[in-house]
Amino acid sequence: MNSHSGLSRRAFLAGTATLGAAVALHPFAALAAAGQAHLRIMETTDLHVAVFPYDYYADAPNDTLGLARTAALIAAIRAEAGNSVLLDNGDVIQGNPMGDYIAYEKGLTDGAHPVIAAMNTLGYEAGTMGNHEFNYGLEFLGAALKGASFPIVCTNIVKADGTPFAEPYRIVEKQLTDGAGATHTIRLGYIGFVPPQIMTWDSSNLAGMVDTIGIVEAAEKYVPEMQAAGVDLIIALSHSGIAAELGIGENASLQLAAVEGIDVVLTGHQHLVFPGPDFKDIPGADIDKGTLNGKPAVMAGFWGSHMGLIDLLLEVDDAGKWTIASHTVEARPIYERVEGKVKPLVESEAEVLAAAQVDHDETLAYVRRAVGETAAPLHSYFT
Ligand code: MN
Ligand code: MG
Repeated sequence: MNSHSGLSRRAFLAGTATLGAAVALHPFAALAAAGQAHLRIMETTDLHVAVFPYDYYADAPNDTLGLARTAALIAAIRAEAGNSVLLDNGDVIQGNPMGDYIAYEKGLTDGAHPVIAAMNTLGYEAGTMGNHEFNYGLEFLGAALKGASFPIVCTNIVKADGTPFAEPYRIVEKQLTDGAGATHTIRLGYIGFVPPQIMTWDSSNLAGMVDTIGIVEAAEKYVPEMQAAGVDLIIALSHSGIAAELGIGENASLQLAAVEGIDVVLTGHQHLVFPGPDFKDIPGADIDKGTLNGKPAVMAGFWGSHMGLIDLLLEVDDAGKWTIASHTVEARPIYERVEGKVKPLVESEAEVLAAAQVDHDETLAYVRRAVGETAAPLHSYFT
């Protein structure tokens, strides 16, 4: 047995002893040597206000969705890794009756938006905007995002005067522990992108106030700026899907991955899972390696169905330059199907439920009332 495998085994046993047999350290956490560090990137995407594992349309529990369930994966996922960051990829505040209830009925005068409040319990490092963030108008969006305890970056929306609508990117210093227990500082750069088609889809909310530029174009503009600022690793929060051709630019994550300087791509918007068979025929998308044009990438389903995981074995040279020595990618589900039946793999996280409990209860009353009064005028939408 060489010294490396001896170290691995000790690290593995230390992990299982404190956390129970269910937790196995990611191999990178055990294998990292001096000057190498394991960094685990966690992605949620397209949450669409799904905090509770509940289908408000059916008025019934549903084990296939809900951030409270995805969150239950986090403790174990963090424990499996030496270092980790949690990121969200957009489409947060719209998409179920709780979102409509807040936007059309209750408003945001007292307290944070329930899905933001739920996210605030989990320690997100950054998020971005999805196209559906604009469905209720810019004023509501601003009020909702003000409650977030983490930065929201988006690069490709510009105001009428040409300046960025949102913070385009954020560079955050993070302390990484290497395989020998030494601490290194790494500068992680988060840069966000939204489908430029929001100008068509939400023209009544946006026309004359903002405009968009292409995702690849925006990356080519801002990545050199981030590099000049001394970023070590650029993580794209791309609220955009994966398509062989760029076309109108709605699903540009594959082409974004090809931009020099982008190191990792979190994708979404299509409500699919990458790596997964939906993408097997796309040239440049490697579902075995979990890469888009050679860059590690993930798409974590929708409504909290999966936690996207990109694990990096990072290496620092004598000049302090970091490179990705190896990677693995996984989209870890919150449920499985056994003989056609949905079986949850985790239980809800109580703190996440508690953050949205009041609004959840009020939403139940809202949808039950709405169903009972279908003939009533839709006063709250038009006044
Ligand atoms: Mn979506
Ligand atoms: Mg979307």
